[in-house]
Amino acid sequence: MRPKVVLVGQLSYFPPVFDSARRAGIDLILVPRPDDPVTPARLPASVVELLVLPIGADPAAASDLLVERHRREPFDGIMAGNEKVVPFVARAAARLGLVGLTGEAATVVRDKALMRERLRAAGLATPGFAVVAGPDRWRDALRLRFPVVVKPTNGYSSLGVVRVDRPDQLAAAVAEVHALATARLAEGRPAEVLVEEYIDGVELTAESIAHRGTVRVCGVSYKSEMTGPYFEETMMRAPTRLPAEVVAAVEHEVVAAHAAFGVTEGTTHTELRLSADGRPVLLEMAARLGGAGVMHHVIHAATGIDVAAEALRVHLGRPPEYWTSPPAPRGHGAAFSVPVGPGGRVARVRGLDELRDDPRVDHVIGNMVRPGDVLAPYPNWSAYPGIVLSHHASDDDATAFHDHLARTVRVEYEPA
Ligand code: ADP
Ligand code: CA
Repeated sequence: MRPKVVLVGQLSYFPPVFDSARRAGIDLILVPRPDDPVTPARLPASVVELLVLPIGADPAAASDLLVERHRREPFDGIMAGNEKVVPFVARAAARLGLVGLTGEAATVVRDKALMRERLRAAGLATPGFAVVAGPDRWRDALRLRFPVVVKPTNGYSSLGVVRVDRPDQLAAAVAEVHALATARLAEGRPAEVLVEEYIDGVELTAESIAHRGTVRVCGVSYKSEMTGPYFEETMMRAPTRLPAEVVAAVEHEVVAAHAAFGVTEGTTHTELRLSADGRPVLLEMAARLGGAGVMHHVIHAATGIDVAAEALRVHLGRPPEYWTSPPAPRGHGAAFSVPVGPGGRVARVRGLDELRDDPRVDHVIGNMVRPGDVLAPYPNWSAYPGIVLSHHASDDDATAFHDHLARTVRVEYEPA
């Protein structure tokens, strides 16, 4: 019998994970996100069932429905497909006796302040930081070295992440980020804001697989320079041009962070910067595939490691295949996210359709934003206007392609 994994909150129009499941011979029961327009008539090939669960509105009822579904016909694993459902999936896995994170680890990786505390306690690199409990507590962060970054403790997609250069700008920034966090990210508790010292250096991501407490990094990618004041992600490329010893130091820091956070099972997406002395400093770790499968694509195209398939295998209790039979490196993987720019009412997204027949392009994910939609500019965030996943023979080619996209692909807004 083919194994079945419940995939919770994975956007159905991001193909990579669904393609990986098909290649790995794994059937998926998809729990759609409330904002996913998926219908039974238009399911990715690897999805054999849709299971609607009210995870946001009533997690206890959602958990009971999942247990009921398991009793009817057991499935073999459960995996989180987005950031918000990581704690729910961990609790559900524990309740059903399936592979997953402990509740504690799931809490830590959803809280940037807890991650900072754990890193410091483990003696790992971390910038100075201060947790600010409310907008009037901004003075608690004045002891930090400026510039600093102000961010929600439980955010994603750089929503509400703001660089602040001078102490006299801090009060206003904390108030703004706190208000955004309260409006957009409150998950039944008061919003918290983290202020941390700005690390001026190259930004990297690492995609990893953990199985029974052993962790191995699949690949490290380079993220385009972002200096703020807002941090819209636009480009990722792998492998990086970094020397092997720097990559090894990154891997070492990432593996140690898993231990510090108690992350022992599944896949993770870790973001780091290289500090001035060359030491990798963790920004955050997410216990899920990076970018809903975008980072799987980048690393798969570069290393040959099918990150998403390995993640699904781990959730079935199986060891990752690349640990015993590492694939040969394949080339260069790249991802480009269309910038939101100034925001407003969308007239059209220009330049994406032309890419569909480009032999370098594997996927154009472009149905996330439609004419008439209103996009908020950073530091707010409402949607990604489009994503281009590609492969290249060299980093020069990938970089040139990204430069081309930066010139030709953009959101056009209706006149205000
Ligand atoms: P999110 O969960 O919203 O992605 P992050 O903590 O990853 O929040 O911050 C988003 C981006 O902001 C990072 O990718 C990075 O470019 C920038 N950033 C965040 N913290 C720092 C920092 N301490 N130093 C430099 N840049 C930072
Ligand atoms: Ca991030």
